[in-house]
Amino acid sequence: MDKPNYIKNYTLDKLEILIQDFGFEKYRASQVFSGLYVDRIDNFKDIKTLPPKLRELLIDTFRINSLEISKIRKSEDGSIKYLFKLFDGKQIETVYMPWYDETDGEIERVTLCISSMAGCPVECAFCATGTLGFQRNLTSGEIIDQILFVEKDLGIKVTNIVFMGMGEPLLNYNNVVNTIDILTLPKNNLLRRKKITLSTVGITAKIKHLALSKNPVKLAISLHATTNGFREKIIPMAKGIQLNALMESIEYYYRKTRIPVTYEYIPFENYNDTEEDAKRLAKILKRVPSRVNIIPFNDISFTGAVGFSNKLKPTPKDKILEFGLKVRHYGGAVTIRDTFGTDIEAACGQLALSEGA
Ligand code: SAH
Ligand code: SF4
Repeated sequence: MDKPNYIKNYTLDKLEILIQDFGFEKYRASQVFSGLYVDRIDNFKDIKTLPPKLRELLIDTFRINSLEISKIRKSEDGSIKYLFKLFDGKQIETVYMPWYDETDGEIERVTLCISSMAGCPVECAFCATGTLGFQRNLTSGEIIDQILFVEKDLGIKVTNIVFMGMGEPLLNYNNVVNTIDILTLPKNNLLRRKKITLSTVGITAKIKHLALSKNPVKLAISLHATTNGFREKIIPMAKGIQLNALMESIEYYYRKTRIPVTYEYIPFENYNDTEEDAKRLAKILKRVPSRVNIIPFNDISFTGAVGFSNKLKPTPKDKILEFGLKVRHYGGAVTIRDTFGTDIEAACGQLALSEGA
């Protein structure tokens, strides 16, 4: 099946070149962008500012929408998981998470957890997406449409996005960077750079590239270990990304961008939740301005994962608190996270296309 030519794969610069190749003025590309991202048209015919001949050329050349909603599940805590179908039948997931103001109960911000790949090649032992293996990279259009489709379906505006759905965003670097470029274009009025968080296992070369890119965003580093030995057990790719090299790339990122870093850390009982781990974690945290989110391990037994995955058990809640306090005692900044959406398997690392009941 031929890959559709989605218009939302194109940054403004690239579209300007294409439209000039069609024989039209450069500013026509901005009119197309307004139609797509401000007016949210579904058909090029509706961009009335364009000459009819150009509208026809666009209709013949591009497709606008790249996703189809195949399932929606709502959680008791207000989060909603969308299962989207891509043109080639692959499926991806996106999770809507509202945050309520404690005083008046109004929604104060809306975070969307988006996918950058179908499946994931990194295959972390604790992650449901990893059990799917790598299927393919998403195009920029497919990433952007996750936001536009949810906004349309719920009639809301997304205020924050996190690349914490399926896939390793830094292994789909070009498409992810182009996505950020389109999303943060001021006239599109979609998102500000500071409202975007990219979560990664830490592809060091790409962290450095991102530091020098036009739009560096907040980094969340999935650390989950304080020794190379344990990290390699749970993140096979960590064999090629030793902690020293990872820390060096994070220091580089901070030096170039001055954006504080967030670390993510899942305590696994008796593996990475000891006093020594707390001490080492605090030491890591102090290398650049940062904070660690301690995340409870979400059950992935529904995937039928085997091998080392079966040995991993969540540290009990009271022990997680104790661990967090120790890290704080040794000088690290700590947030202990509750989980969103566990009743619908929409929490982090549970995105593996479970259809549920
Ligand atoms: N590939 C990127 C982003 C997607 S995973 C990354 O790994 O950072 C998003 C977050 O969910 C990561 O921090 C990941 O470590 C975490 N995660 C994966 N499986 C999990 C699980 N079973 N329980 C809790 N968090 C999990
Ligand atoms: Fe991929 Fe991130 Fe899951 Fe690891 S935790 S398998 S990198 S999605």
